[in-house]
Amino acid sequence: MDNLKLHKYGDPILRKQAELVKKINPEEKELLSNMAKIMYKNEGIGLAAPQVGINKRIIIVHTDNGLLKLINPQILEKEGEDSLSEGCLSLPEIFVQVNRAKRIKVEGLNEEGKLIKLRAEDFLARVIQHEIDHLNGVLIIDYATETRKEKIRGNLEKIANHTKMIFEVKNRRKAKMVL
Ligand SMILES: [Zn+2]
Repeated sequence: MDNLKLHKYGDPILRKQAELVKKINPEEKELLSNMAKIMYKNEGIGLAAPQVGINKRIIIVHTDNGLLKLINPQILEKEGEDSLSEGCLSLPEIFVQVNRAKRIKVEGLNEEGKLIKLRAEDFLARVIQHEIDHLNGVLIIDYATETRKEKIRGNLEKIANHTKMIFEVKNRRKAKMVL
């Protein structure tokens, strides 16, 4: 699984509802460690499994106390509101102002399958909400106002075209392999 790559806008996996993890196998642990590698390499602060092409409810978030790994995360409580400009590794160079809850209570399983509950606020709460959005096929552009959408349209098309090109190259390789 070492050849995982960052999947960008235009890839249908980013719009899918990710599936619950029923059992944590070595595969999931390996996925978590590969996700961490990809996130830090790309200077991200959070990453969701669909962003590396895996349709599972798994997220990682960089925190001051190390890397938070959450399997099947769920927001239990939301409080307050806050607005900030957000970026996303799957949408390079695109920034959108996003309203999110200021404080959240979240639960999920850790790598060992133990249920953990935590409270987060401000930036950490925001990143967790952003990553959980990915598990539901939601991207920051969905929060953009019409004016903002108009401004980023060109950039979005560029990213989508690039993704399409990657798909075409992959399909051509597959076709060759069949022959
Ligand atoms: Zn993102």
